[in-house]
Amino acid sequence: MGTNISSSSSIQPGNWSFILGAKVPHRVRVFAWRVCRGILPTLSNLHRRKCQVMDICPCCEMHAESDMHILLECDMARQIWSLSDLPWGIIAGWHGSAEAWIRHVAFSLDSVDYQLFLVIACLGMKIQSASSSSTTWNPPPNGVVKVNFDGAMLSNMCGVVAAREAIELVAHGGWQDVILEGDCAQVISKLRNPCTDSSLISSVVYDIKLLCSCFHSVSFSHVMRTGNRVAHTLARLATFSLEGSVDHPASIIPILVAEYSAVA
Ligand SMILES: [Zn+2]
Repeated sequence: MGTNISSSSSIQPGNWSFILGAKVPHRVRVFAWRVCRGILPTLSNLHRRKCQVMDICPCCEMHAESDMHILLECDMARQIWSLSDLPWGIIAGWHGSAEAWIRHVAFSLDSVDYQLFLVIACLGMKIQSASSSSTTWNPPPNGVVKVNFDGAMLSNMCGVVAAREAIELVAHGGWQDVILEGDCAQVISKLRNPCTDSSLISSVVYDIKLLCSCFHSVSFSHVMRTGNRVAHTLARLATFSLEGSVDHPASIIPILVAEYSAVA
């Protein structure tokens, strides 16, 4: 069956040569490692780590966003795999853990196809994350409150501080089921990630996660700038105000009406 890194010894537990020996970009090896360790920032993993999030897949909105769902089982993932010439029978012919799946494919494909498999899996997940970002504002489900935030400045620190203020506002309002939405992809990614990081904004991210623990459920949603116009406009107006804040300015009403009309 397999050759080189796909040798039968590579499927033995504790032997990580099927990842370490793969001739793929470093970030793809890191991705494969995270899959095998079960630390992908999927909604199901966040849920398992006691984060109060709704774990429904944002792509199909039908199943929990588990590792294997986002990598293989979601319709979006299947469409991505169908674009490759890799043998679907091997890719889909395993029903078990994500680590066992990768070991199975490493053993079953030759080196070149296996490396292509890793790259597609990594890119596929990025595509799914990007495609689940809406370009328009959408209302939350019944009983859930959505709060949009924007830092006005193109910096992660501004974005994450705005996110903390937004979640504090929701906490004071007494709402229990919350969607926190913004257009800063890196901030949303860090909020979704169950691991702590050492970036400059990590302490604020930690504050937000701590605040989120008091809600019944919280999810973090990325929206494109075009779907975050009200929050963006308010943030810009606040930047230019002497008080650093604005209170229901009339200039956002046309934007509100346009966004509401688009979804009504
Ligand atoms: Zn799905």
